[in-house]
Amino acid sequence: MFAQRLAQVAESATMKVAAEAERLRREGHDVVDFSVGEPDFPTPEHIKAAGKAAIDANFTRYTAVAGIPELREAICARYRADYGVTISPAEVLLTVGGKQALFNSALALFDPGDEVITHAPYWPTIPEQVKLVGATPVIVATRWEDGFAVHAEALIAAVTPRTKAIIINSPANPTGALVDEQTVGTIAEFAAKRGIWIVVDLCYEHLIYEDVPHNLPKVLFDRHRDRTVLACSASKAYSMTGWRCGWTIAPKELTKIFNTIEGQTTSNITSVTQKAAVAALGGTQEPVKAFRDEFRRRRDNIHGWLTANPGIRCVKPKGAFYLFPNISGLLTDAVKTSADFAQALLEREHVVVTPGEAFDAPGYVRISYATSTERLREGADRILRFAETLQPAKASVSR
Ligand code: PMP
Repeated sequence: MFAQRLAQVAESATMKVAAEAERLRREGHDVVDFSVGEPDFPTPEHIKAAGKAAIDANFTRYTAVAGIPELREAICARYRADYGVTISPAEVLLTVGGKQALFNSALALFDPGDEVITHAPYWPTIPEQVKLVGATPVIVATRWEDGFAVHAEALIAAVTPRTKAIIINSPANPTGALVDEQTVGTIAEFAAKRGIWIVVDLCYEHLIYEDVPHNLPKVLFDRHRDRTVLACSASKAYSMTGWRCGWTIAPKELTKIFNTIEGQTTSNITSVTQKAAVAALGGTQEPVKAFRDEFRRRRDNIHGWLTANPGIRCVKPKGAFYLFPNISGLLTDAVKTSADFAQALLEREHVVVTPGEAFDAPGYVRISYATSTERLREGADRILRFAETLQPAKASVSR
């Protein structure tokens, strides 16, 4: 009855957990929700003011499909300031969030039969979009013992004559890991020789908590500019998830194709959002710094609290706003999988976490720390209490 292409595509598991949390809340429970994939801060005042002014000035009509020149120029200026790269507005196209930036790339580049390599644990949208356009995702696993590091040799070993692209997500959802510059450089040099596209999801590019080099745009542009797509977003950096603003930075010819796709589907992103985004990208970056500092404090707190239990084994993530602990040491005969763990935690302690199964990583759970320190403390206490109830069972089984 429905189109064949949807047969292989999964529903968003992260959204399912959110629905379950909402149900408990409506029943009147005090739910601690660690499933949220968005900053809890309001959009900064100067950005909201620009959006309101746009409405008052009746800036409420269609714009150019790719976005208003002012915003595309603000994006070029931002990347010049942040990364020292020179981009022209003809290489920039505004999208309905980073999600559409990635989807335009999938539609424009991947054919049925093509293979597209990415690393796991992954954000599920990445492989699902590959499947949605009929191509085949090829997954390269990373390990927590290794800080979820992506190794160039492992990605390169997965290349076949059918490989069309490699998708890199850094900082990554759900692990918070970064793909380092050297790795990206090695992959880019290989990809350049083989004509393989590299798509980089930079959605969390401003949420990096350590002083480590992460100039992926420059590394890629120096080696592989004609086949690199940067998929970016205002959602997380500027706390603008609901405004729906993302963009691609890609070669001009590909940007023209994106323009055709968008022109025949959504047309321009919301006019008012574009004016707000000019203020976000072109205005003060102080709020971004403040968000980052607050996220860093929360990360340190929640990481310290939870790892007090040796069954919760967790690297300290370098970016994004998720912890991704390995909880396999807590599993018992009754709570056998991380999905069982998340379900039991929800039922007994009303804490919502996303099971690792959603990210192709059974044995883990994702804990978003995009919530207040007070709620983090409350949720951590409940998780630790729940974990205590599991360990004796495990001990008695193994005896
Ligand atoms: N990439 C990653 C890794 C994400 O986690 C998200 C949002 N959860 C996005 C892209 C897209 O976000 P948006 O469409 O709001 O820009």
